[in-house]
Amino acid sequence: MFIENFKVESPNVKYTETEIQSVYNYETTELVHENRNGTYQWIVKPKSVKYEFKTNTHVPKLGVMLVGWGGNNGSTLTGGVIANREGISWATKDKIQQANYFGSLTQASAIRVGSFQGEEIYAPFKSLLPMVNPDDIVFGGWDISDMNLADAMGRAKVFDIDLQKQLRPYMESMVPLPGIYDPDFIAANQEERANNVIKGTKKEQVAQIIKDIKEFKAATKVDRVVVLWTANTERYSNLVVGLNDTTENLLAALDRNEAEISPSTLYAIACVMENVPFINGSPQNTFVPGLIDFAIEKNSLIGGDDFKSGQTKMKSVLVDFLVGAGIKPTSIVSYNHLGNNDGMNLSAPQTFRSKEISKSNVVDDMVNSNALLYEPGEHPDHVVVIKYVPYVGDSKRAMDEYTSEIFMGGKSTIVLHNTCEDSLLAAPIILDLVLLAELSTRIQFKAEKEGKFHSFHPVATILSYLTKAPLVPPGTPVVNALSKQRAMLENILRACVGLAPENNMILEYK
Ligand code: NAD
Repeated sequence: MFIENFKVESPNVKYTETEIQSVYNYETTELVHENRNGTYQWIVKPKSVKYEFKTNTHVPKLGVMLVGWGGNNGSTLTGGVIANREGISWATKDKIQQANYFGSLTQASAIRVGSFQGEEIYAPFKSLLPMVNPDDIVFGGWDISDMNLADAMGRAKVFDIDLQKQLRPYMESMVPLPGIYDPDFIAANQEERANNVIKGTKKEQVAQIIKDIKEFKAATKVDRVVVLWTANTERYSNLVVGLNDTTENLLAALDRNEAEISPSTLYAIACVMENVPFINGSPQNTFVPGLIDFAIEKNSLIGGDDFKSGQTKMKSVLVDFLVGAGIKPTSIVSYNHLGNNDGMNLSAPQTFRSKEISKSNVVDDMVNSNALLYEPGEHPDHVVVIKYVPYVGDSKRAMDEYTSEIFMGGKSTIVLHNTCEDSLLAAPIILDLVLLAELSTRIQFKAEKEGKFHSFHPVATILSYLTKAPLVPPGTPVVNALSKQRAMLENILRACVGLAPENNMILEYK
């Protein structure tokens, strides 16, 4: 059975006019490695820590500024939200299609809330805590191409033509602001597109981005802005001591107009200065150490990197299943071909390298979790190939071969072939990223020994379900396994309303 919403009634939860307050016992373990009677032993001690959460229930009017607004993802997301907001339907060769938010965790997935008279009861994920309704988001942003969003949607060739015709009047007047362009950081083949760029030094460019955010906020009367990079993949920035290793050095390098500060880092600096959440949907290392330090100092949310949309999402499910089943993946080979502008940009070796790095570490946590299968330091062969094939456009092909060792030296080879529009996978993920980033800034918490409430760490690991290479604070474990990432997110939101983590024990029926 499906219920639309629910309210928790418990001595541990209080709903005030402005907040949901909860007291939550976090059940965890403490490990010690001790000499007991002459031999070292691992001792595991269950531990319970009392946490208090408070969530501000005032849902702000949200503005989302996309860097790369006129790209395939930017135009697809903008059109998709308008279509939902306006209740648009359109004719395809199969049927009359209604706008929907399929593929969005917050808008189209469900959580289990319990059982009632022998039946499992589910509710929308978004019913857990008050969240922005995506239909109410005001979009804006920057692009180095000055094409309006209606033409950009046509250039993207993602939506059916009947839908495009209906969306056109809403999108014609949407024109991206000039963007920061540095040909050294993206492929040379993007140059033709760059007719809408901010002039001046890097410091002046940052000042312009700040001005743009302020003007957008004033013009649209939104309460809160989130900025998200869905522009082209850049090459990696070189990490240089004295240049981008600390906040001080990064800001001094900005003053000196140093060449090695990438456009994406410039947008991120502007956002941190303004305390505006900044999310990186591409693989490059926008978050150089100096930028991470700066975000921590200013307590300004940053999250990334690289949307986890298709092949990698599948990988973080399949390898988790194999290793979890005691099967040993030994070779993982992933081919992609695509024909959109992202594919063209990735055909340059430097930008491809960013993607290769971001796609490569995704199985590490799963492999490291099972020493019954892997010797220390042993790792499956893992190869990623991306080719640009213009004819297929946004309809990306992903082909994967997983070879594993099974019982008694046997081998099992699984082959997957996925064809689908890349931007239709990415757009709902962008939506979840901005909605969850906004929500997370309304949550405060403290552990029993902490005096004051505080927000989550500014490096937003809570978003990791949605990213290929989750950015984590220094010294924090990286979790790639998709089911763990989803459980982490869901269980933290459950804690905010005083609900225990979903443990799937269903003891009532045992
Ligand atoms: P796209 O090329 O269609 O769009 C990118 C847009 O960014 C273009 O309109 C371009 O003009 C603009 N741009 C480039 N540099 C800019 C800058 N410095 N400032 C402002 N605008 C700039 O690409 P897309 O298909 O929309 O993908 C966008 C990004 O998302 C890519 O980096 C891609 O790797 C990443 N990504 C996409 C997916 C997916 O499934 N679609 C998954 C993971 C990551």
